Formats: sequence, structure tokens, C-alpha cells
Amino acid sequence: MPAQASSHRPPRSRHVRVLATLGPASSTAAEIRALYEAGADAFRVNMSHGDDASKVALIETVRSLEAEIGRPMTILADLQGPKLRVGRFEDGRVELAAGQAFRLDSDPTPGTGKRVQLPHPEILAVLKPGHRLLLDDGKIVLRVTKALDGAVETQVVVPGALSNNKGLNVPDVVVPLPALTAKDRRDLALALETGVDWIALSFVQRADDVAEAKKLIGGKASLMAKIEKPAALEDIDAIIELADAIMVARGDLGVELPPERVPGVQKQLVAAARCAGKPVVVATQMLESMILSPSPTRAEVSDVANAIFDGVDAVMLSAESAAGKWPVEAVSMMESIAREVEQDAAYQQQMGFVETAPEPTTADALARAAHSIQKTVGATAVVGFTTSGSTARRIARERIPANILVMTPKLATARRLGLTWGVHAVHTRDIGSFEEMVAKSKRMALRHHIAAPGDQLVVMAGVPFGVPGSTNVLHVVRVVGDELTRYTKKD
Ligand code: PEP
Repeated sequence: MPAQASSHRPPRSRHVRVLATLGPASSTAAEIRALYEAGADAFRVNMSHGDDASKVALIETVRSLEAEIGRPMTILADLQGPKLRVGRFEDGRVELAAGQAFRLDSDPTPGTGKRVQLPHPEILAVLKPGHRLLLDDGKIVLRVTKALDGAVETQVVVPGALSNNKGLNVPDVVVPLPALTAKDRRDLALALETGVDWIALSFVQRADDVAEAKKLIGGKASLMAKIEKPAALEDIDAIIELADAIMVARGDLGVELPPERVPGVQKQLVAAARCAGKPVVVATQMLESMILSPSPTRAEVSDVANAIFDGVDAVMLSAESAAGKWPVEAVSMMESIAREVEQDAAYQQQMGFVETAPEPTTADALARAAHSIQKTVGATAVVGFTTSGSTARRIARERIPANILVMTPKLATARRLGLTWGVHAVHTRDIGSFEEMVAKSKRMALRHHIAAPGDQLVVMAGVPFGVPGSTNVLHVVRVVGDELTRYTKKD
């Protein structure tokens, strides 16, 4: 599709990617197009909200836009996961005072100021004296004083008003719940049927959760593990190894952990994912005030900038683009921050604080060499040919300060690469010879406004062509003026 059908849009003038959540404020074709034009590279559909028809409509609208614009587009379906909630109250809400006793039990009778139902018997069974219960995003804190049969007695540590069905976090225990609830399984089937590229798995606690979800996905989409539970941090290396990407989901992470620990954990997670060559997304409250205001706070701008300085693959907008008053302005703000940071002299230096030593593979060695050659000869772009996307991720892992043009015969690969740092993916016919590799690199670099006559390209590919895992060629070519007209073969 895209290569021959389009007017060949230039690559974004920044490497970091912008992931925008879709919702009521961004659901029509015109609204989603406006987000794309402002700089959104990938779109998130939150499966927690809306009915099936509205989710399908969002995905189909992005696909129509993809056909219209002629660029592969990336869609992430974010599963709700095992979100815990308390039951309902006789009067809709109660006031909990500091020090008072409050019981959570299995009785579905509406709650009072002394008790409420917790409709998750598995959780009641594992709570022990001393465990903390965080209600309503941590606004209310209870501590378990006594574990009973099917109930727990607690004491209110941080008081407040508790209303019907508020969320509950239990940071001190590994929650004995499956990675995917019945709702998640239904949503997953719907998302895969409708054709999304990425599935985000919420409340991942252990590598087994990722393994289970991957089995269900069966290769039909890539998997992003959302890191929002302290338990996941204990098993992070195995989680990163199994997942295709991670998200630093700071909303729930900042409830389960003291918020002052989140920045440090964010840096550790970004470094670990970058070392593994897996995309990493930083999410939640990045430009929160722009839900209501056309301009962000200085602290928010600094937060987005710092994530980019750390070398994240993508920064995410949640309610800012899904339900806010200024969705396009929020995307534009991310675009402006990214451009500014990436032009800053300290950007390359700061990203270099994470040492991503190559693994002992030919592909990794070539990607490292491509970086060195690009720097030495001042090449305008690194070009990669890939089927699975692995060559593209290896090049991106180097954080090379040049364009990364990636060609793939698989549309699914081109779409999935929309969350990878710096990659301009083009879906095109495969190459069959060395000469074709050289000619096509030059032609496509010109056509996609990535190089001008006289520029040099560092090309990375594998011989035999079209065989995954065969990356073994690094070649430097110079683009000349008549490249576009010299080759007539269709791409
Ligand atoms: C988060 O908790 O930061 C997050 C991204 O998850 P959600 O928006 O699904 O709660």
C-alpha cells in the first residue's frame, strides 16, 4: 500500500514518537486526522471505556486515515486488566475518619460507614495484618488489622470520602488473579479481529502474565507490558525479555509506590528497555493540565523533555487527547518539546548515559558499526531492510542522530514499528539482489524526502534477501540527482 499510493510524506522532524489516546474528544475522522497532522504517530484505544461498537469505529477510522494519507499507522489496544473495585454504599458514599475501624467483606448488601463489600474473594484470602489498601487512586489508605474468614478488619490511616465502586490498589501483595480477566479476553478477541498492531497488558505482575497473554495473541499483534505494580519490578528482566515493549504506566505505579519513587523507577525502566532494544513508552499526566488549559505548566514541559532526554521511544497522552478540551494543542506541544530537546547539544550526550553494549550477534555488531560509519562520514540516513522488524529495532537501539529509513514487505511490521525511536517505516516490495538494494535505498530515500542528491546513506541488509535473521551487509552509498528517474520498476 503506502509506497506507491502516496504523495510520500517526509519523516517527522524528531526521533521520539507521540502516542495519543483516542476518546470522545478525538473520535471522528477529522479529529483523528488533526492529531496525526499535529504529530501523533500512534493511537491508543483504551478498552476500559466505551462499548464494542465505539472501539471498532475508532480502529476503523484510523485504518481509513492510513489509506487516505498513505503512511502505515500504529494502533495500540490497552486492556483494562484486573482492576479491583469496592462495592456500593446505601447512600452512595461514606466519610471515613482517621483511626476508625472499617471492614471489607464478601456480603453484597450495600455498605455503611462500618463496612463495604470487596467482590474479590481471592484478595480477601491473601490479605494479612499490616498490608495497606489504597482506595480511590490512593486518596484513602487503610491498614489491615485482622484477617478473618472471607473478610478483613482495617484501620483508616488516611481519611476521606469513599463512594460507590471506587478502585482499590493492594501494593503489598502479588494479587492472585489471572493476567487477563473475562472482559480482557473478550476485548482482546475484538481488538485482534479488528486489526490492531499492539496489545497493552495492564497490571503485569510476573513474566508468566506476559507469556500467557502472548499465547492468546498468537503473533497477531505485538505485546506491550504495562509496568504499574511493584511486583513487576522484581521480575523486570524476564518481563522485558518476553514482552515486545514496556510502558511506564505512572498513574497506577504512583499509587502503588510512593510517588517520589516513580522518577527513579522510570529511569531504571527506560534504561533496561533500551539495553534490551525494546521500545519504551512513558505515560500518564505528561501534560495533564492541558485537559482544561491550552497551555501546559512549566513542570509538565520539563517532565516530557526529561523523558525524551532519557531516550524513550515514545511519550503518551491520555485524557489530554482522549477527553480534554485541547487534544490537538497537546500533541503539538509534545511535537514542539521533542524538536527542541532533540536539537539541544546535551541530547546525544544525555542519551549516551545509558550504555547499550551490543550483544554478540552479527546484527548487533553491524548496527553498532552503522552508527560509527554514519558519524564518521556524516551520512544523512541509515537504511534498513527487514521482515520481522528486528533490524529496525537494532538500528534504533543505537539512537543514531540521523534518519532511519526502514523498508519491509510486511505491512504488519511497518505498522508495529510506529512506536520505535526514529524509524520511518515504508511498506514496499522486497528486494532480490545487491544492486536492487542499493538502487532502492537511494530511490526511496529521495522519494521520502530523507536524502538529497550528494547525500550518503549507510545501508544494512541481509543476504540471502528476504530470509529473516540473515543481516550481514553494511554498505555506504551516495545518492545522485537522477536516481528517481533512472529506475522505473515499481516499489
Ligand atoms: C497508568 O496507570 O499510568 C496507565 C497508563 O493505565 P490506565 O490509563 O489504563 O489506567
